[in-house]
Formats: sequence, C-alpha cells, structure tokens
Amino acid sequence: MEPKQYELIVIGSGPSGEKAAVKAAYFGHKVALVEQAPMFGGAEVVTGTLPSKTLKETALFLSGKQEKGLFSIERDLSRKASIEDFMYRKNLIMNSEATSIGVNLQRHGIDVYQGTASFEDLHTINVSAPANCSLIADFILIATGSYPYHPSNIPFDGVRVHDSDTILQIKHFPKSLCVVGAGVIGCEYATIFSTAGCKVLLVNDKSSILTFVDKEVTQELLTDMKENGIETFFNEKVSSIDVPTNDKEPLRIHLESKKVIEADMFLLAAGRSGNVHSLNLDKVGIPVGPREQIFVNDEFRTKVPHIFAVGDAIGFPALASTSMEQGRIAVAYMFHTRDLEHHPLFFPYGIYTIPEISMVGLTVEEIEKKDVPFVTGKARYADMPRGKIMGAKRGFLKLVVTREDLAIRGVHIIGNIATELIHYGSHLVEDKKDLYFLISQVFNYPTFHDLYKYAAYDALSTIAGRKLKL
Ligand SMILES: Cc1cc2nc3c(=O)[nH]c(=O)nc-3n(C[C@H](O)[C@H](O)[C@H](O)COP(=O)(O)OP(=O)(O)OC[C@H]3O[C@@H](n4cnc5c(N)ncnc54)[C@H](O)[C@@H]3O)c2cc1C
Repeated sequence: MEPKQYELIVIGSGPSGEKAAVKAAYFGHKVALVEQAPMFGGAEVVTGTLPSKTLKETALFLSGKQEKGLFSIERDLSRKASIEDFMYRKNLIMNSEATSIGVNLQRHGIDVYQGTASFEDLHTINVSAPANCSLIADFILIATGSYPYHPSNIPFDGVRVHDSDTILQIKHFPKSLCVVGAGVIGCEYATIFSTAGCKVLLVNDKSSILTFVDKEVTQELLTDMKENGIETFFNEKVSSIDVPTNDKEPLRIHLESKKVIEADMFLLAAGRSGNVHSLNLDKVGIPVGPREQIFVNDEFRTKVPHIFAVGDAIGFPALASTSMEQGRIAVAYMFHTRDLEHHPLFFPYGIYTIPEISMVGLTVEEIEKKDVPFVTGKARYADMPRGKIMGAKRGFLKLVVTREDLAIRGVHIIGNIATELIHYGSHLVEDKKDLYFLISQVFNYPTFHDLYKYAAYDALSTIAGRKLKL
C-alpha cells in the first residue's frame, strides 16, 4: 500500500505532541499523530503529572489535613482508607483526560495511528502493529517523552520495588516506603505517601533536597517533613536491595555507608532518559546525548531542518508546562504561523509537595554568584489574614530584588496554592517590575496575594535600614 501523505507527522500524544498536532491542524494543515500506548496523554496523563497531583489531593483529603488548621479536626481516615480509595480519583482523572485528548484530536481532523513509529528515511515513518503502515510528511515532530532511569543494582519488579511509572499501579498501601532521590518526583511522592499515613524514608546522594530550589524554602520543607515523621538520609547511595520471598518480611535496602534500611516498598525517583530508542534515529543522522536526549536549536529543529523535537525528548526542563509551549513554538516555525515564536525567558517551576513549592527567576544562591547587590523581602502565610482564616502555620513568599533598581528578579513560595500564586510573580520577573509597582497594586482582601505586598514592604524596610522582625 502506498504511504499516506501529510504535511506533519507527530510522534507521541503527550502534552508536547498533542498541542503541536492540534495547533498545526487548527491552522489548516494535514496532520497525522502516532501513539504507541493504548491511552493518549503520555507522562502527563498516564504515568506522571496528573496522576501524582491527583494522589496529592487524595492524600490530603483522606488524611483530613486540609481541614485540620481550620477546625482542628483530625479525621485520620488513612488507616481505614483502602488502596482503591487512594487510586480511585487518579484513575478517574486519567481516563477522563485521555478521552478528552482523543476527542480534541478527532475534532481537529487529525488522523491517529496506533503503533510504534520509527524512521525509514528522512520523510518516511513506519508504524508498527496494530496500525502497521508507512506515512510520509514534509515535517516530522519527535515528541516521544522520557522513561525512568533504571540502574542495574536496583531489582525493579513493579510489585515492591518501583520506579515512578509502576508506583501508580500498587495493589496495596505500604506501611513504609523508602524513596530514593530527593528531586521533584521523589519529594512529591515522599510527602504524598507520608500524608496518606505511610512511614517514609527519603534517601538522597546529596546533602539536601531539591538542590536547585532556594535554600530557605527547602529548609522549610525539611522542617515540615521532619514534623510529619519523614526520615532523611543524606549523602547516601543504595548499593543493593534484598527482596525476601516472603512478602510479609521487609525489603532490606543496603546503603554504601553500610547502613541498612528496612521498608515495605521501594521507589527510585532518580532521573529520566529520552525515549528515543525505538525511532531508528541513526537512519536520519540525528545524534543523541548521554541521557538519550535530542539536541535542538531555538526553533526546536534537530540537525535535520524539517525534523523537530520537543518535550522530555530534548531534556531540560522536562515539564508538561514547558513541553506544551515547545510543541506550539515548533509548529510556528514549521508553518510560519507568526503567533508564538519564543519561549519566555522565565518560566515557573511548580513542585507539588505537601506543602507546595513554586519559584520563578533567580534564587539567592544564583544572584550571589552574579555579584550584584541585592535584598530579599519575606512575608509569612501565618501573618496574613487569609492565612489566619485558613489556619496556616508554615509557609512564606520571598522576593529577590536588585538593590540598584529595586527590580524583582526572583519569587519563591512555599505554602498553600504556591503553584497558583506564582503566576503573578512570573509577570513581575518577566516584565522587570519593581517594588514600588508592587506596593501600588490593589488586591482583593483578604487573599494570599497580600504575601507579595508585605514581602515588598519587608524588602523596602531592609533597604531603608528599618528592618521589622518577622
Ligand atoms: C511523576 C511525575 C510527575 C510530574 N509532575 C509534573 C508536574 O507537576 N508539572 C509538570 O509540568 N510536569 C510534570 N512532570 C513532567 C511531565 O509529565 C513531562 O515533562 C511531560 O509529560 C513530557 O511531555 P512529552 O510530550 O515530551 O512526553 P510524554 O508525556 O512522555 O509523552 C510521550 C508519548 O510518546 C509516546 N511514544 C514514545 N515513543 C514512541 C514511538 N516510537 N512511537 C509512538 N509513540 C511513542 C509515548 O507512549 C507517550 O505517550 C511529571 C513527570 C513525572 C514522571
């Protein structure tokens, strides 16, 4: 059979692939999308973003912690809640979002092929069964995502020893969980499982957690983790794991320091690699880096100008939020849509730990390296009327400001809805707004946005040498 012809073939239906395919179709181009998995949505919908965020909300709900501050009610449902309760909403959201993506693709007239895509030549893609066909296109977009890193000394079995994909399929709730890796995914799952009533042991090969985050913020999270019984092991690496045949006996996790940790379940959350092995990239001369990531230029073009790559397949920052925009920008360059040709210089990071963390722009550690005079300003949730109403005990917003022009260079938040509050901070940083702009704004009252204003006053009082004690 003659290969069907398209203007664009998108490989992968994760956030970067879906948004790119839909945008190209919206602008009137003939698009095919190839997806190997039975469900649309990739890591965003099936194995990562939305499932973990839904588990976070479920853990908070089941533990009663959302209400604790307000009414001093501790429902402590966790012991009675079943694994089905814990997973129910996650499965509901997954199915609903995957269905929505399918509907969106169909609505835009995109032809979907199920199977694994690989390059036959510069313009031809072979798709394995069940689609079992070949397709030709002017442009090809690689949006194949990433997969969890599997070091050879970890005996992954998907039953007791998990990566971040299989932890979402657990059949019973562990009494204790050893999480290795204190990056975003490790810290999120550590606080989620701990909130749901599980004893968590967090191991990291560095001296702290979330090493790219503002140090005061990570200190606040660590204090919270400790209060909630999470045990931390820093500067430690796993050497081996004994998995007993009797599943009533604990796993024995041997650290290189000779310490041994016992836990019911194990999760490795220590990095991901580009999902490119099935693509036959050598046939089209596209090289990959050490973590199997594809190199691209500012337009998201690979070495081969009509083949683009976006999302986790190109590595940093590997977020659903940025992946979507990369897909849309790549399409802007393919078809000259002239609507969106650059990625903002600053984009927010959302870390859905309990409590949430979010940041944009420079940290104190980064600005110190630049050797530019700066000040910080801080406001605490517990001091804000909205915080008092909601029973906030911990959490703050911190501004990093250059002294010379009072411009806001960084915003760092830990606390309730930090991942929502940060977007105002993104505009302040991107538009180089200063402290006087910030204090001239009127916010609804009472809101958590007051944090911005009081952090600005705090920075101004430091500059004026009239620092108030917070
Ligand atoms: C536990 C976890 C939590 C996360 N939390 C967040 C968060 O809170 N916020 C955030 O912004 N990001 C988060 N992320 C990151 C986010 O999920 C990814 O950055 C995003 O999904 C990457 O999108 P993508 O389109 O590049 O790839 P993916 O979403 O991985 O999709 C790639 C798709 O390509 C398909 N595919 C691969 N190879 C082929 C092939 N050869 N042929 C056909 N199909 C193929 C795959 O089946 C998959 O469906 C999280 C990730 C994880 C693992």
